Formats: sequence, C-alpha cells, structure tokens
Amino acid sequence: MTPDQALRRIAFLLEWRGASPYRVRAFHTAADAVRDMPPGPVDAAQAAQLRGVGPVTAEVISQASTGAVPTYLARLQAEVGPDAEAGWNLVAASAGDCHLHSDWSDGGSPIEDMASAARALGHQWAVLTDHSPRLTIAHGLSAERLRSQLEAVAEANSRLGPRFRLLTGIECDILDDGSLDQDDDLLDRLDIVVASVHSRLRSEPEPMTTRMVAAVRNPHVDVLGHCTGRIITGRGRPQSRFDAETVFAACAEAGTAVEINCRPERRDPPDDLLVRAAAAGCRFAVDTDAHAPEQLHWQSTGYARAARIGLEANRLITTWPLERLLAARSGRQSSSRGGHG
Ligand SMILES: [Zn+2]
Ligand SMILES: [Zn+2]
Repeated sequence: MTPDQALRRIAFLLEWRGASPYRVRAFHTAADAVRDMPPGPVDAAQAAQLRGVGPVTAEVISQASTGAVPTYLARLQAEVGPDAEAGWNLVAASAGDCHLHSDWSDGGSPIEDMASAARALGHQWAVLTDHSPRLTIAHGLSAERLRSQLEAVAEANSRLGPRFRLLTGIECDILDDGSLDQDDDLLDRLDIVVASVHSRLRSEPEPMTTRMVAAVRNPHVDVLGHCTGRIITGRGRPQSRFDAETVFAACAEAGTAVEINCRPERRDPPDDLLVRAAAAGCRFAVDTDAHAPEQLHWQSTGYARAARIGLEANRLITTWPLERLLAARSGRQSSSRGGHG
C-alpha cells in the first residue's frame, strides 16, 4: 500500500463512520500532496514539510512509505465492520466518472485540469458534461460551442496520454415535454449523455413522471442525473415528486443508469429511492458532478451508499472499463433504432 492509497483508505473509513467532511478532506489533500512522491521510506518530519500535510497525515505517510500498515489505518479498520470493506472495494474498482463540469459552463477549472485530476485519482476515463443551452444561468453550451468543445476534448486527449481518456458528453436539460435541450445529431456524436431536470422542479407528479420517462427512454440518454433535484444544505430544496416505480422501471428497461449524485448538498437519490431503484433492477452511475478538481474525491461517498444497500460493481457503470461502457451505449442505440425503425 502506497502512502496515498493509505490516506485515501483512511478518508473513506472516516467518511463511512460519519466523520466531518473537513476531517475527511485533510486526508485527501495529503494524498494529493504525496501522489507523485518517489517510492521509498520518508520520515514524518520530512513528510510534514509537504504542503497540505499535518502531523497526523505525516505519520501515516511515514509508516506507509516503509510498507507497513499505518497505525491510524489499522485502528480504523478494526473499528468498522466488513461492509466497510465492500464499500472500499467499490471505490478501488472505480474506473470513471460520468458527470463533471469545466469552465466552459459553470465549473471553475479548465477542461484539462479536470481531466488530469481524474487521471491522477486513478480513473481510466471521465466524461465532460457541461450544461445545455437553456441553462443560461450556468452558461449552457450552444450547439456551436459544444461542437468546438469536441475539438478541445480531442486536443486534451492527445496530451493526456494513452492511460486515460476524457469522453465527450453533456448534462442535458430535460425540457417540459421530456425532450432534450440539444440537437439530435450532436447528441448522437457524444460518448455519454446525462439528462437532468433543472426547471419546474415543483411540477405535479403526473407531468413530472411523463417528462422523466420520455427522457430516460430516449436512446441518446445514458444516465438520469440527480433524479429528485433536492438540495439538503442551507435553505435547501424539496425533492421533486414523481412516480418512482414507473420512472425506475423505465430506466431498467431502457438500460439508462440512475445517477448516485455525490455532491454533499445533493446526495440524490435519497436512501428510500435508491433502494427502490435497486429493487427495480436499475444500473447506477456513481457521479461527483464535480465543478472543481478537488471535488472528484466525493465519489467515495456514493460508493459507500451503494455498498450499504448491497449493490455490486457490475451494476455500477462507473466501475466499467472504457470498452464496456462504450459498447453498452452503442448497443442500446442500435437496438432502439432497430426496434422502432
Ligand atoms: Zn444538474
Ligand atoms: Zn451537473
């Protein structure tokens, strides 16, 4: 176990036990600091010189650098049950993230910074999903800007190297009638489409259900983003109302993944709906919806939630290798074309 792996694992176990986000973040920050450190023993005083490393994390780094299991980690591991191990295994199996934003829409960082951070976290792939035109408040991309973004992604990939691929995508608004806020031919060219409701969140359940079902059945759509739209921090926002049975059955049938959105203010879907989506046979995408590189580690909270309800890696498309992810998408599109002419 390398020092950064030990630190990430501690962060996960702390999170599992409900530690404060600040405490968890300290371990991720230290992991980022030692990521590129050459292998070999480091003493604690040396480690403490690194930016973002304090006395506790320095001790962990020092012990792990000799190949030992750090005392701090051993103690935590003894305190949590075996289900935490299942959660950690999902985190370790993560291959990608289907939902992240850059400064092309409402994110704070350039495309390449987001991609490099995802690669550094060990991902094989990540999907750039900036907003669609109607979401003007978030600088949604017109068709023209999205076309130029495809070129920017291709350029970024040429610099990112063969070990990682940034996929093209969009977080596309689901319009009132269930149609999507981007041209079909353009959606067709993207690797992954996340569809989300961002408007009229307080609709009556019936039109909301119809609207969501239309979107998840759309062959362009791969992932249903933050399905209830709730915000659980600050003034908050209640979850939107829809017939969950109907929507999740449609997702399962169409092969559209239900997103487990990891943003701390969202944690969407709520627990009860997550259980119902699992019972409906849905697949899931454990997504950070990151708007900055340091938010990519939020993904572990989603895997912890998945593990707590017994979901296995096979049901989580964010653990899939790139080839499987892309093959599933093209398979769905061609079968839907065949099916409906
Ligand atoms: Zn969204
Ligand atoms: Zn988003």
